[in-house]
Amino acid sequence: MTAGEIERLQKDYLMPTYAPGLALVEGAGAHVWDADGNEYLDFVSGIAVTNIGHCHPKMIRAVQDQVETLVHVSNLFYNAKQPVLAKKLAERSGLPGAKCFFSNSGAESNEGLIKLARLWGSEHGKYEIITMRQSFHGRTLATLTATGQEKVQTGFGPLPQGFVYATFNDIDSVEEAISSKTAAVLVEALQGEGGVIPADQEFLSDLRKLCDERGILLLCDEVQSGMGRTGKWFGFQNYDVIPDAFSLAKGLGNGVPIGAIVAGEKLADIFQPGRHATTFGGTPLACAAALSVIEVIEEEELLANTQMMGAYFAEGLCELAMKYKKWIAGVRGLGLLLGLVLDVPAAPLQKKLQEKGMLAIATAGNVLRLLPPLNVTQEEIDQALKLIGEACADLHDEMAEQSPNPCVCGEGE
Ligand SMILES: *Cc1c(COP(=O)(O)O)cnc(C)c1O
Repeated sequence: MTAGEIERLQKDYLMPTYAPGLALVEGAGAHVWDADGNEYLDFVSGIAVTNIGHCHPKMIRAVQDQVETLVHVSNLFYNAKQPVLAKKLAERSGLPGAKCFFSNSGAESNEGLIKLARLWGSEHGKYEIITMRQSFHGRTLATLTATGQEKVQTGFGPLPQGFVYATFNDIDSVEEAISSKTAAVLVEALQGEGGVIPADQEFLSDLRKLCDERGILLLCDEVQSGMGRTGKWFGFQNYDVIPDAFSLAKGLGNGVPIGAIVAGEKLADIFQPGRHATTFGGTPLACAAALSVIEVIEEEELLANTQMMGAYFAEGLCELAMKYKKWIAGVRGLGLLLGLVLDVPAAPLQKKLQEKGMLAIATAGNVLRLLPPLNVTQEEIDQALKLIGEACADLHDEMAEQSPNPCVCGEGE
């Protein structure tokens, strides 16, 4: 099928929820190809999903083997892969006494976290969850309510009760939001959709202290920042802060849908039989994929690579920010979750990059979000920096043409 044919079919038979830009049909490592045979350097990675790159041979092998053995049995039965994966996540989490629950997406993992916090608080009449403005937690009714962005909520009321908003990186605003009904604070260590904004060290440390003092749970949404993306297994590990529980999804299965809740000792046994469930959660197939992801991250030392390549990439981006400081404000992020922060909308730059053969995401209006796979090479980062540099130069020239005399004021027009 040609790109045009795919596009027409989609228009006729899919709800218009998305506005896709390209028809991609093949991938390998940090590269993808569209239906017309054009190659792209992929710094989207399926939105922080394909963390070990497209079609990693280890994952292909693990998934193929599992497909030929057993795909699904339901949670009425043990399966040999699920507890093995749970043990690996629990051990890497640093949460004492951690146990897991497997789901299928980020929203579903967060929905489970919310239920977990409410069930924990139900004995004492505590059910409110404090979340941050500009956060993103998903699109189900509860998680879009947790998401502190009006544009995600408009038209879907009445919204579930029990969500209260505070300001990210402002501990006083969290303290003010606490009531006798507060069960938990839910926070991203690094806001991805919100514009690649890392938490301040002081904010997360103070938040842990505040939650302890007031008998409130600290929950982290690690759906985007988890699974090595920030150079640590989980984003909160950059801060030496241990939450009571956290959610995972995106990078966990490298594209095979799987999410998880990882909960420490306080919450590990709250969900007794009959209190929470999902048919597809933790199938042998999804767990096999996730196990191969963990194996590859460790064998190929991808946490170290993420730290190294993240620092190298950020340095190159900072040079660009200096060169175009008239309209690039700076660089933010952790590891390989980076944002080039512009003083102008990011969509034109993203489009220019795509024309030059590189994929990135325009986020929160003015941020170009860059998410290469964690096994990205220095050559690929150099190629990306070259393309971003060219796109910036083009854009700079265009902006100069549009406003040849931006400083002349009061002369009409
Ligand atoms: C993507 C994302 C979600 C939602 O995950 P889905 O799999 O799309 O439901 C939730 N939280 C964060 C931080 C995310 O980045």
